[in-house]
Amino acid sequence: MLQHIKDFYGYLLYTDKEREDEGRLKKNNYTIVNSKSTGNMKKEAVAELDIFGNLIVRQEPWEFADSLEELNSMISSCKKCPLGNSRTNFVFGTGNPDADIVVIGEAPGAEEDLQGEPFVGRAGQLLNRILEATGFKREEVYIMNILKCRPPGNRNPLPEEVEKCRPYLEKQLKLINPKIILLLGKVAADALLKTREPLQKLRGKVHTYKNWKVMVTFHPAALLRNPNWKRPAWEDMQNFRDFYKTL
Ligand code: URA
Repeated sequence: MLQHIKDFYGYLLYTDKEREDEGRLKKNNYTIVNSKSTGNMKKEAVAELDIFGNLIVRQEPWEFADSLEELNSMISSCKKCPLGNSRTNFVFGTGNPDADIVVIGEAPGAEEDLQGEPFVGRAGQLLNRILEATGFKREEVYIMNILKCRPPGNRNPLPEEVEKCRPYLEKQLKLINPKIILLLGKVAADALLKTREPLQKLRGKVHTYKNWKVMVTFHPAALLRNPNWKRPAWEDMQNFRDFYKTL
């Protein structure tokens, strides 16, 4: 590898900084490629050193994961944002890896953080009942959150946390490749669809995220706080089921 870097940057002097980078690359299992390289078929991260010897990461190992299980094992020690230090558990997601339907909430709450599984608290129990009433079982869909780690005090996710976590969510979606995504609540809808529209305007329509169809309804925690929203939520779920059947 050392020789490789020397050849690659043959016109530069080999410095301590480069030696240090070499160590870093080895530790993180990176492969150095030159910027003209096209593909990387191996499960390796790809990085480049710029002319100043700075490491520029192009692809990380988890991007090559072939299954949700493998992805989880590769990202569950993530520290890309400060929530990595305050969480008890990384809450990857749960359910059928071949699901037609992916349900996406906001972020783990206290119970989810403790158990390492999304939607296991009161809101989760209501979600199970909603799914069942609509004709779906929890185990047959896939359930996850925009953020994989609990924000302290259940505050809303910060935009920078959403952006750090988004690639993981996209990789999960690529692996599952669902027919449709159901977003729970305005925070999840804002984060995924990058919109500021009120929930009322987002409901009852089919949106798209990348190539996936998306529908939006109330968050079950909101329904626990305001039971008047249960009826419109039920209407959303009937629309969701009817549309899903056409797919
Ligand atoms: N609320 C969410 O948005 N997600 C969970 O996992 C639990 C509660």
